[in-house]
Amino acid sequence: MNFSSKLLEQAVAEFGRLPGVGQKTALRLVLHLLKQPQADVERFTTALDRLKREIRYCVTCYNISDNAICEICASHKRDKGLVCVVEDTRDVMAIENTNQYHGVYHVLGGLISPMDGVGPSDLQIDSLIRRIEAGGVQEVILALSATMEGDTTIFYLYKKLKDFGVQISTIARGIAFGGELEYVDEVTLGRSIATRVPYERNIA
Ligand SMILES: [Zn+2]
Repeated sequence: MNFSSKLLEQAVAEFGRLPGVGQKTALRLVLHLLKQPQADVERFTTALDRLKREIRYCVTCYNISDNAICEICASHKRDKGLVCVVEDTRDVMAIENTNQYHGVYHVLGGLISPMDGVGPSDLQIDSLIRRIEAGGVQEVILALSATMEGDTTIFYLYKKLKDFGVQISTIARGIAFGGELEYVDEVTLGRSIATRVPYERNIA
């Protein structure tokens, strides 16, 4: 693309770095922003700037939070003995949308993926183990996607957690849905959590 302005080119290049945004879309978005009132554009950039500077991760579950302890962990209505392990905050949002889960979460921040250079130490796995060692957890639900990375991570976590005397369950995967939790409809996701099965049964 030949740009008439360096500023325009830079802005398009930044938008083009976003996932799923090609050069044409980036240009369309930038030209749209350029037409907006100054105050609107400033609100947009301030939101992004504050997001990156001020966002925090819950010290207990590592979900994205505005406070040191997220609203879910802080709630007295949640069962702290039931911990649902998920890949990222999108899964927390998907499960919360079912309105059927009353436990708490542990957000790994990714899945084990040797191909991408992601190992256990890159994820919130040690913190999960410490959380279980601290006591009070009766059951851990491994709600990870039905992918090779999801399976690898589940097996790794099972090996790490099996001797702590907690129930380890997985949700029904791969039949009603074939991908990431965020794309599963709420009824199916709610049902699969309610009908979770002990992990040992799966590997027998
Ligand atoms: Zn939390």
